[in-house]
Amino acid sequence: MVKTKDNGKPSSPKRVKKPSSRELLELKKMSWKQIDGLDRNKTVFFLPISPLEEHGPHLPVGTDLLTAEDTAIQAMRIVEERYDDVTCVILPSIPVGFCKFNSDFPGTISVSSRVVKDIVYGYGSALACHGFKNLIICTYHMALSHLKGIYSAMDKLRRKYDMRICEPWSPVFYDNSIEEKEPKLGFDTSKEVHAGFRETSLIKYQYPYLLDPMYASLQSIYRDVNSPKFVGKTFKEIGLTDGYIGSPAKADADYGRWFFQFTVDTYVLAVEALIRGEKLPDLPKNVRSKMKLLFWE
Ligand SMILES: [Zn+2]
Repeated sequence: MVKTKDNGKPSSPKRVKKPSSRELLELKKMSWKQIDGLDRNKTVFFLPISPLEEHGPHLPVGTDLLTAEDTAIQAMRIVEERYDDVTCVILPSIPVGFCKFNSDFPGTISVSSRVVKDIVYGYGSALACHGFKNLIICTYHMALSHLKGIYSAMDKLRRKYDMRICEPWSPVFYDNSIEEKEPKLGFDTSKEVHAGFRETSLIKYQYPYLLDPMYASLQSIYRDVNSPKFVGKTFKEIGLTDGYIGSPAKADADYGRWFFQFTVDTYVLAVEALIRGEKLPDLPKNVRSKMKLLFWE
């Protein structure tokens, strides 16, 4: 498939030939010449960004980053198969996010929400300066202070460059779509907040060799982390000494497959809305307002 720059002129010598329909374009492996040959309006960039953070004693610290990247890659494959004229390019996965609340465990690396904003804005504006329009932010880390960085960078990119940009997963996470659509399990999955049933199922499906078999003996632990009495406290300070909230022992690879695919489908729908110029997914209004009230940390 040959793509040319969409500048209204007859095709110039700048052309990018995709190596094969199955091979994904990675920005870090491309020359500026190849990047310059991409169609500004028909290229969609994917930016996976999530912190390294403890995910209980049984899951890798890269759980969110691995999931964001893998689901983005799968979504890119589907989009490219469906739309011959759309090119997807993945940006390097950025192991960055705000997760101060569990930084009392080794392996958690938290940066401020301002740093998250600067990075997302830095990547977006660098692309927008060269006329690129479409960017999907892929994050699996749902802490509001982290999302505050991402959303304010996205707002600024829309204002300054008229960029078509969205972060599709948190709108689904925060509007209860997962509970509505997931297979019925007979227990309340909305309390599976961190490294619990859902994330353990994901890793059991996607990376079984990274799941410590001791997950099966972990007790269910629940905490309402949004409770005012826990504000500003770390996981250990509220008694989460193993660093998880939920029921990891219930993990199920079939659910993991469903959850993975549901995330992929969410990304594909967002790309379709983006390329058709339709309304893009956004956080529910009440979550947006709550996020705005948070301090920059
Ligand atoms: Zn996670």
